[in-house]
Amino acid sequence: MKLKGIGISGTISWGKVYLYLQESYSIPKYNVIDIPSEINRFIKALDKTIEDINKIKLSLEKTVSKDELFLYTSFILLLNDQNFVSMVTNEIKKGQKNAEWALYIVLEELISKFQNIPNISFAQRSEDISSIGEKIMMNLLAKKEDENFNIPPNSVIIARSISPTDPIIMEHKNIAGLITELGGYASHTAIMTRSLSIPSVLGVEFITSIAQNDEDIILNPLTGEVILKPTDEEFKEAKSLQAKQKRLLSSFHPFINKESKTTDGTSVDILANIAFVEEIPSLLKTSSKGIGLYRSEFIVLQSNSFPPEETQYKMLKKLFSTYHLDKEITIRTLDLGGDKIIPGYASANEKNPFLGYRAIRFCLSRPKLFLEQIRSILRAAYGAKNLKIMIPMVSNYEEIVETKMLFNEAIEQLQRENIPYCKSFKIGIMFEIPSIYYILDELSKEIDFISIGTNDLIQYLLACDRGNEKVAYLFKYSNPSVLRFLNDTINKANQLKIEVSMCGEMASDIYSIPILLGMGLRRFSIPPSSYMLFNKLLHCISMKECEELTKEVLTLISANEIENKVDKWIKERAYEVYEFFHLLK
Ligand code: PEP
Ligand code: MG
Repeated sequence: MKLKGIGISGTISWGKVYLYLQESYSIPKYNVIDIPSEINRFIKALDKTIEDINKIKLSLEKTVSKDELFLYTSFILLLNDQNFVSMVTNEIKKGQKNAEWALYIVLEELISKFQNIPNISFAQRSEDISSIGEKIMMNLLAKKEDENFNIPPNSVIIARSISPTDPIIMEHKNIAGLITELGGYASHTAIMTRSLSIPSVLGVEFITSIAQNDEDIILNPLTGEVILKPTDEEFKEAKSLQAKQKRLLSSFHPFINKESKTTDGTSVDILANIAFVEEIPSLLKTSSKGIGLYRSEFIVLQSNSFPPEETQYKMLKKLFSTYHLDKEITIRTLDLGGDKIIPGYASANEKNPFLGYRAIRFCLSRPKLFLEQIRSILRAAYGAKNLKIMIPMVSNYEEIVETKMLFNEAIEQLQRENIPYCKSFKIGIMFEIPSIYYILDELSKEIDFISIGTNDLIQYLLACDRGNEKVAYLFKYSNPSVLRFLNDTINKANQLKIEVSMCGEMASDIYSIPILLGMGLRRFSIPPSSYMLFNKLLHCISMKECEELTKEVLTLISANEIENKVDKWIKERAYEVYEFFHLLK
């Protein structure tokens, strides 16, 4: 059976279905006879939840402020609230309902009560209730959030959705593939699977209800095709396509450490996007200029709560000591929120999380936490010759001024405390919110560089959720508005003589690279796994040709027409690259 999704990363692969459905638990509903033992089951789950929260609270006591700890205290107060406890036990008694069902009814009632009060603090209360309710439910269902997996080798993980920090992604790098029902091309889950070289296809409708454990499955990350229970013929074809794809990849291999230049000798800086120190060994094999984006929030996300400054410092130190201190190292400050949430900090129930409490907004509202991160970066970077600090999701001038004030405060503290730190660094911003185009002039006086984050920029420019498979067909690099906006931005940055690079996934899109070069972009930050393909293409094209192509493309109004034109253009100049993308179509 053939199904279609959005191809994300890796080579064509196959394995056995491993259904991973823990995120979408359903609430069992049945009648019980032994009421006291059902009440006892609920009380035990409640006690276990209190114990879990107390543990988290204890681990945070030294690192977060009293205000922040209050959240956990309020969770515990709620769990001990006799009204809440008797509401659930009454529900069990009254309707002879099982504990999960009773809890579900009470939670729904409380949440809607609080949601209907037009006051921010009550809305927050309803979120607290929902998150705490989920924890009790997990304990009732005896599901652990950090379950120890026992995944047989060669499994293709199938899930409804997967968060970018799900332990299955973080810890199980040997899986043969990942397929989900939800998620788009530029979601953070997609970015993580690219980083970790996990073959993946997202957005395959109904796959969790169709696939059965242990069935054979093939996934094709280039076309987005998934074949469930393939025939012998389909298996044979997949094997031959994989062999061809691997052959082509090994022919690109010599480009991994060649100078990055076009045929007419223009140098292009290729930098790397990384989220884990473990990615550095593969980066070291390339001729990359440095790290153009280190997603520092993964330090926090991996811990699932805020690690103290000392832990952050040690993790960052590992990054600096594993890489070259004289190369460019760009650390992006915490970009939490959106689809990168840790319990108790950013709100999981925001109506529009990508438009909400994210990135620099989150950091500036928690100066104590932000200061700790800034201190840990500056301390760990001691000795680095080319440190860059990058602020995500900047939407106004004040955010830069405030951030710089916090950097100054951190520096004063470190000087006072006689702690060594990196004294010289550049500060820049992610260009993700389109409106800052209009204040770039003034901003450029405060910052040293901009890096275009197309994953967010395009979602804001086209009003198109980057992680929603239903609108993934609109999230197009070849959309003329996107291309014209990028052209204007790159030109403006070049006129203002402010350094401009691109670190969104578009920077490694083979069909976009020649157009971006033609616009005057010379710095690209990409996943290390895309390095050799990028450099191979570069060695087949000239800057003059790119400029001509861009000029023509910018006059076109149809994305399809643009794609066809570039496709033909690449075929004529870089046949093997063209073949790599076409052999599986
Ligand atoms: C971007 O938005 O393009 C970007 C690089 O940041 P992230 O994908 O982490 O949001
Ligand atoms: Mg972004």
